[in-house]
Amino acid sequence: MRVLVVNAGSSSLKSQLIETDGKMSLMKCLAEKVGTPDAYMNVSFAPDFHKTTYNVGGMSVQECLAKLLEVLVDDPESPISSLEQIDGVGNRIVAGGEYFSKAALIDDAAREDLAKCEELAPLHNPPADACIDMMRELMPEVPQVAVFDTAFHTTMPPKAYMYPLPMRYYDDYRIRRYGAHGTSHRYAAQQAANLLGRPLRDLGLITCHLGNGGSITAVNHGKSIDTTMGFTPLEGLMMGTRSGSIDPAILTYIMRREGISFDEMDRILNRESGVLGVSGLSADMRDVLAAADEGDEHAELAIDMYVYRIQKAIGGFYAAMTRTDAVVMTAGIGENSAELRERIFDGLAHMGMILDRERNHVIGQIGVNRIISIDDSPIKICVVTTDEEMRIARETDNLVSQRG
Ligand code: ADP
Repeated sequence: MRVLVVNAGSSSLKSQLIETDGKMSLMKCLAEKVGTPDAYMNVSFAPDFHKTTYNVGGMSVQECLAKLLEVLVDDPESPISSLEQIDGVGNRIVAGGEYFSKAALIDDAAREDLAKCEELAPLHNPPADACIDMMRELMPEVPQVAVFDTAFHTTMPPKAYMYPLPMRYYDDYRIRRYGAHGTSHRYAAQQAANLLGRPLRDLGLITCHLGNGGSITAVNHGKSIDTTMGFTPLEGLMMGTRSGSIDPAILTYIMRREGISFDEMDRILNRESGVLGVSGLSADMRDVLAAADEGDEHAELAIDMYVYRIQKAIGGFYAAMTRTDAVVMTAGIGENSAELRERIFDGLAHMGMILDRERNHVIGQIGVNRIISIDDSPIKICVVTTDEEMRIARETDNLVSQRG
């Protein structure tokens, strides 16, 4: 099945055309800085993936998608020449609220529920919904599916998802923990079960998605029982540019002291904090590791804090579960940084998570999952390669096939 995966962000559009039978990508697209005059869109086709760059300055996210659909139909390198040759569209949706506990085919009823979720992720859901509407118009015969970042976490119990605030905030606004990165955590847990050769339902796992954004999930018997991200992706770990959890009183203090607006404070916490804020250098962990190697003190402090907060989250979830069989590392940092994995697990050996230093440093082949703990480590440590677009394509394929 040929699935177009559409991942519409607040200022970006990522898309792939995926042949799900051969698990092959046929087209890749990345548009960045969308909405600004500098916006650009790179599109490339299999087998060589030579990029063509389009100027999409001033366009909205759905206008970029419209441009991409034009390229898909017109470019001689494209495997399709009409939109009807797409068998299904898989849309990544950040927030599914309490409406969606799994991926859903988008019919009129589902579209109405999607509209109700917009206020939960005001920067991300509305552009994704606009893309869905446009594609429903342009290619009404092609089924569309919504795959939610939050769906995997709808199994959390109230003690994990409720905040200790007056109940009216939950009653009136559904303020609660929703979590994120669900597709990745679900996939990482399943891959770890395969590596361990045991059914997922028998296992207790702690999955760590460490990329630009980061979250850790306690997966008990295949179900998410708690996760570090909260009402929004700002809670939890220290991230590339997000602060993660801090004392909420700091916000009101800074706002009063500096007389800044809510929007400005929001921007500081989401875009200027975390690894970037503390290092003063970069949100990219590779840059910060390199600077720390050169003796930069702020870079070293940023890494120390980053590692320490991950260790505390893993320890917390170890306590939250009835058993822990493995810790699973995935996403840009989790998959690629042997140095950070070593620093994280050096502090966790006393909990029975014992890294094999050599295995940790073996550069894994792309797409090959592996165990990097010593053979008799009571709790195994796994590295799993995540591929969000492929997961979305598979889920779309499943729902479209079931539809008959
Ligand atoms: P996103 O959340 O945007 O999908 P990724 O999962 O691609 O992000 O992760 C991006 C992060 O992974 C960046 O901070 C990048 O520096 C980091 N990263 C990638 N490769 C390495 C590496 N070899 N060593 C350290 N960090 C790495």
